[in-house]
Amino acid sequence: MSKIPTTLAGVDGPMSLIGRQVKQSLDCLACGYELEGSAADGRCPECGLPVPFSLAGSIDPEAHRLPPLENAVLVGRGLLLGACALTVVASSVFVLSIRESFTLAGRPTAGWPSWPWWPLAAAVVGLGLLGWWSIRPQKGRQDSLGSCWSITTFLVGILLSAGAMATAGGGFQWASGQVATILAAVLPLPGLAIGLVGFRGVLLELGRRSRQFRSSAVRRQRIPSLLVAIGIVAAAWVALLILLEVGERDSTYGVIPVAIGLTAMLFVVVGHWYLLVNAWWIRGDLCRPPQKLGALLSEVASSSPDSLIAANLADLGKQPSEPVSGHSVLEDQSSPE
Ligand SMILES: [Zn+2]
Repeated sequence: MSKIPTTLAGVDGPMSLIGRQVKQSLDCLACGYELEGSAADGRCPECGLPVPFSLAGSIDPEAHRLPPLENAVLVGRGLLLGACALTVVASSVFVLSIRESFTLAGRPTAGWPSWPWWPLAAAVVGLGLLGWWSIRPQKGRQDSLGSCWSITTFLVGILLSAGAMATAGGGFQWASGQVATILAAVLPLPGLAIGLVGFRGVLLELGRRSRQFRSSAVRRQRIPSLLVAIGIVAAAWVALLILLEVGERDSTYGVIPVAIGLTAMLFVVVGHWYLLVNAWWIRGDLCRPPQKLGALLSEVASSSPDSLIAANLADLGKQPSEPVSGHSVLEDQSSPE
């Protein structure tokens, strides 16, 4: 079992927990028990988890070191809407490819009702524009040039994708059913890739403010791997088109690119659902920023000077190299020095 800390490092430096109480609402990390009023160096009365663990889990000094973000709630919502726009593109292309997989492989068309490309394209444009509008750099806001470039690239990609989807909605009258289906499955992909490149810049920039996003190793979606997968899908469909031109009509080789294309597209669409989860995390942390350690804890109780001295001694004994400024809260309270 790991050692229970008696000192935690907040954004303002280390702070001793001894003699302090939790003065704000704080849930126990293990059981959710309300720890407000508990001793900061004590244990959860319900499950026994040391309170310092719950405190450490609820503060985020790294996010507090960043300059405050104006309109954080709006920006968080915009990030989520942007992820939704990308997910609609990826999901509609994937569902179409699955539905028409026999047509892609050269079998007779199944005679489904036509795929609702126009409403889907309209949804993508609406979500994408709302997302862009919420995140776009505004006058008076200190934004880096990078995020401005990223959000513009995102919008360009989304509009390209929606344009390709709307074109597919018109149907490719001049093409056979198989070629038309392949074109509908491949044309939205370049815009999707461009949109993802832009979205990545915004996601990484805003993700610095979310501890869950920064620290998640498993459920955090890496966009470069999505781009590789989109490249594989596009290559598979282009290979299928080439095979149609040079091969025999009743060749069964077409099954191979179809299998590769569908598998890679499945990876792409699952990755987009993870992106949605990641955007949801970041939105949550932007809407409810983590509290600062100093705001969570009461001053050291002045009625117990012994514990105050003990706190200082404990600090000095454990972390002799910490800067003295970290003890400012203690010094305010008639420090023994
Ligand atoms: Zn508990």
